[in-house]
Amino acid sequence: MPKAPVLIEAVADELYKCNRCGFCQTRCPIYRVTGRESSVARGHLALLQATLEGKLPFDDESRGSLFECLMCRACTAECPPAIQTDRAVVAARASYLAQRQSRIQRFIFRRVLPNPAALRAGVRILGWLKRTRLTVFSKLLRLLPWVDRGYSEAPAMMPAPKTFLRERLARREPARAKARQVTYFVGCAIDRAFPEVGEASVDLLEAAGYQVMVAPNVCCGLPPYAYGDLESARGLARKNIEALRDLDAEDIVSDCASCSSFLKDYPELFSEDDPMRAEAEAVASRVRDLSEFLAHIELPDELQPVPAVVTYHDPCHLSRYHNIIREPRELLGRIPGLDYRELPEADWCCGGAGSYAMSHHDLSMRVLERKMENIRATGAEIVVTPCPACIMQLRCGAQKFGVPVEVLHLTQMLRRALPPRSAVAGGRADSRE
Ligand code: SF4
Ligand code: SF4
Repeated sequence: MPKAPVLIEAVADELYKCNRCGFCQTRCPIYRVTGRESSVARGHLALLQATLEGKLPFDDESRGSLFECLMCRACTAECPPAIQTDRAVVAARASYLAQRQSRIQRFIFRRVLPNPAALRAGVRILGWLKRTRLTVFSKLLRLLPWVDRGYSEAPAMMPAPKTFLRERLARREPARAKARQVTYFVGCAIDRAFPEVGEASVDLLEAAGYQVMVAPNVCCGLPPYAYGDLESARGLARKNIEALRDLDAEDIVSDCASCSSFLKDYPELFSEDDPMRAEAEAVASRVRDLSEFLAHIELPDELQPVPAVVTYHDPCHLSRYHNIIREPRELLGRIPGLDYRELPEADWCCGGAGSYAMSHHDLSMRVLERKMENIRATGAEIVVTPCPACIMQLRCGAQKFGVPVEVLHLTQMLRRALPPRSAVAGGRADSRE
């Protein structure tokens, strides 16, 4: 029997809080499609308890169900002792990775993600292949050990812009100095997959009278964290803390729900006696998701009417991790002429969950089908969400399940309502990396 995994021991208290009530079954998107006890929080916790007590080996079979979890936290919301199953799952994944991590994953997490030039070059080559040699691109993706063999239609849906956000911002006219500054944390997906979202975000901030200081950040660290590579996540967090702590602008905003959420959670990556903990707390206290930030400031001009039927999907990282539910809806409410329809089960995970559609394609699509049917029922022409992973997943769902809906980031939606003179009002300040 393999030794009891040390990292699971660290969450033992959490595991034993489970009273087996089963309330988590009602809201777990994965349990709802598999019907298997091993898919739900109660099952994960029981498995980890049995592993700790030496009754079950910690092997590939345990790994299978642990890596199925979306980390959406829907179970925590239903759980009487509010067990954070996602944390137990990450600890278990970390224990597994400590025993077995593929070289290619280790290389990407430890060598490529901390190096923006290498990441940019890699994404550029993949983007070129995707645009010109889709079959080769799909084959390459399938070489990655964590990519599901059933992953076939999604590569065609992956955005591959020719220019990235940082390059586009560098080409804009330099901004005039303004009294108010804000630091803009550029997420990898916004930079390299959805630069038009970042441009809309910068337009909005400038229209609101802010000078946008583009942060010299690297990946926030959430991808390695979600796979259980805590050392890589911590390394990236350290780099970002060092890059952000001395910047003048007090507020640090991000238009990627996953990045803003993870930046706020940085202190949890460091132990109480680690000097980095206090620095992480100081940086985290300055971070705002852009929807949260915009909801608390005045947009300067009258927003123009946008006559469209619109609904809103809550990304798990905003709604469940940081209770940002009201603010995006309030911002949509400021657009005149919008026919807003609340989405049934708006906070039900779409199945995107970072790279989940790649690693668990079939499950991801089954979770997505429920989301798309709910969107269809609203009759919405546009579905808005402030998370790039959700945008990619919902666009894939619209095509796969034949739902005639446009998927936009919240800032793209707001940008459509800006009067023309506001939309071109400002420039940009800095784009170091
Ligand atoms: S975090 Fe989400 S997917 Fe994971 S067990 Fe809880 S409800 Fe299920
Ligand atoms: S709801 Fe919480 S306490 Fe109840 S079975 Fe699920 S994890 Fe355990």
